[in-house]
Amino acid sequence: MSIAKNVFEVRQTIDQHRGEQPVTLIAVTKSVGPDVANALYAEGIRDFGENRPEGLLEKVKELPSDAKFHFIGSLQTRKVRQIIDHVAAIHSLDRSSLAEEIDKRADRIIDCFVQVNVSGEASKHGLEKEEVVPFIENCKQYPHIRIIGLMTMAPLTEDEAVIRETFRNLSRLRDDVSRLAYPHAPCMELSMGMSNDYTLAIEEGASFVRIGTVLVQ
Ligand SMILES: *Cc1c(COP(=O)(O)O)cnc(C)c1O
Repeated sequence: MSIAKNVFEVRQTIDQHRGEQPVTLIAVTKSVGPDVANALYAEGIRDFGENRPEGLLEKVKELPSDAKFHFIGSLQTRKVRQIIDHVAAIHSLDRSSLAEEIDKRADRIIDCFVQVNVSGEASKHGLEKEEVVPFIENCKQYPHIRIIGLMTMAPLTEDEAVIRETFRNLSRLRDDVSRLAYPHAPCMELSMGMSNDYTLAIEEGASFVRIGTVLVQ
C-alpha cells in the first residue's frame, strides 16, 4: 500500500473529470486506524469520512486539529450527542426525529446533506425523491440545521448508465430544491461518488466525493 501514490492518483483522476467545479475529496477512513488516517493527512487530506460515532471520535483524538470530519453513515438519534461538536457536516440526514435531535444538541449551525434513495432500492437508506422537498421545508423549524446539499449512494450494479442516471436525478433534485431558495436550505452541494463510481459522479456534478477503498488499499 502506498498512501501517497493512491492520493496522487485519485486527485489526478478527479482533476481529469471535474471541469470547472471544485470537488472536495473526503477520505473515508471507516475501515482503517488512525495511523492510516494520519498518513492521508500527511498527503494533504483534510476531510475525513466516518460512518460510526466510535470511529469518528477515535480519529478526532488522533488527528491534528484542522482535520474535518464528515459523518456519512446512518446515525442513531441517541448517538447524535457524542459527535455533534466534532462534525464538519452530516451527510445522512434522513428523518425528522434526527433533525430534531441535531437541532437540540447543537450549539452552532450544523451543515447537513439530506440523504436520498434515488434508485428506490429497498435496502438503501434515505428519503424517497418525492419526500425530499416536504422534508426540507419542514426543517425550517430547526434553527441549528442548514441543508447544504443532497447525498446519495448509487445502486449496486455494473450498469454505468443506471449509475449515471441515479447521479443525474440527484443533481436535478438538487436544482429543484435550490431554486426554492429557502434561507435554511441553500442546497448547492452534491455528495455522491465512491471508489467504484466517483468519475461518473463528478461528471454529473458531484462537489463532494466519499472515497475509501482506493485510497487505503
Ligand atoms: C464506505 C462508504 C464510502 C466509501 O466507499 P468505498 O467504496 O470504500 O470508496 C462512501 N460513502 C459511504 C456512505 C460509505 O459507507
